[in-house]
Amino acid sequence: MHELCTPGDAAAKLAAAERILILTHVKPDGDAVGSALGMQKFLRDTGKQADAFFPAPLPQRYLWMAEGNAPLPSLSREQAAACDLVLVLDCASPLRIAGGDDLDWEFLQTLPLLNVDHHGGNTVEAGSNLVDSKAAAASLLAAEIAFASGRELSRGAATAWLLGLITDTGGFRFTNTDGRALRIAARLLDCGAELEKINNAVFFSKPRNQQEFEADLLQNHLKFAFDGKFVYAWLPEELFAAYHFDMRDGEGVIDLLRELEGAVIVALFYRRGDAFKVSLRSKDSRYPVGPMARALGGGGHDMAAGITLVLPDSGAVETLLCQEVGKLLDTGTPKDI
Ligand code: 5GP
Ligand code: MN
Repeated sequence: MHELCTPGDAAAKLAAAERILILTHVKPDGDAVGSALGMQKFLRDTGKQADAFFPAPLPQRYLWMAEGNAPLPSLSREQAAACDLVLVLDCASPLRIAGGDDLDWEFLQTLPLLNVDHHGGNTVEAGSNLVDSKAAAASLLAAEIAFASGRELSRGAATAWLLGLITDTGGFRFTNTDGRALRIAARLLDCGAELEKINNAVFFSKPRNQQEFEADLLQNHLKFAFDGKFVYAWLPEELFAAYHFDMRDGEGVIDLLRELEGAVIVALFYRRGDAFKVSLRSKDSRYPVGPMARALGGGGHDMAAGITLVLPDSGAVETLLCQEVGKLLDTGTPKDI
């Protein structure tokens, strides 16, 4: 367990640094992109040299957030070492930090690090850690740090953080939505956050090829187990190829399964390199998928988790998932209250 700091402590750390590098997790989602670009904007607004870095191209739907607020195009060890502080956002473990090929954990941990995250069981051992598993999003923690600093928030920073909060709560529908999330959202709106722009980008901008990919997925790839309580889909490479669709832009695809009546646990899995990437969601807090994912070497939150499995073929992934989900549905570990 690491020693925890408060949003005020984190604000002081950032205020004391002049050059700040901002990193987030691999395959960044709305919260990763929003928390990092929001912090970059906020710190640049206060006169800092602050740069976010994403080693892979951003999801298409979030590119607009980088307009006039561009992240670093590349990052060397020398550049990273020249920073006074490395802010790591939304990363549950050192292995998930996206530093690019040159910046592995062995190197990163030699730098002054501030770890800001909302995953329970976060294993990033930084010099300073603001880890709060009750926070709905890393973007919420970023906003709390900014509010604790007493500095004014620009519209751009507020928009990026509200986007992260909206994507991680599924538009305030998931069980991580609480009064604190709504209060921070209200404060971000008061700072000028552009809700229409966010909702249009996140919910109403699906490209045609994605729509067709999803239709095919629903029509031909869904599988049902345990009386429809477990709904899952294996997404073969041909399906991605047929619609020129990449899971980099696939945030939210799993919600197609979650929407189904009767589904309690849903899963998507597809090949990634030599392994299989599995995404899991639960709709009932009596059956959290987080502990199951962790037991299989993955991680995440109680109700939204993922695993990277090295198994011989998709059939082996399917067998393992059905076995583990079956056990979970049988026993139903009641969540801590
Ligand atoms: P998603 O299914 O959207 O990729 O991820 C849901 C949650 O599970 C996120 O909080 C993410 O950090 C976590 N997660 C996803 N994939 C993996 C993985 O391969 N390993 C670990 N440890 N966590 C994952
Ligand atoms: Mn998050």
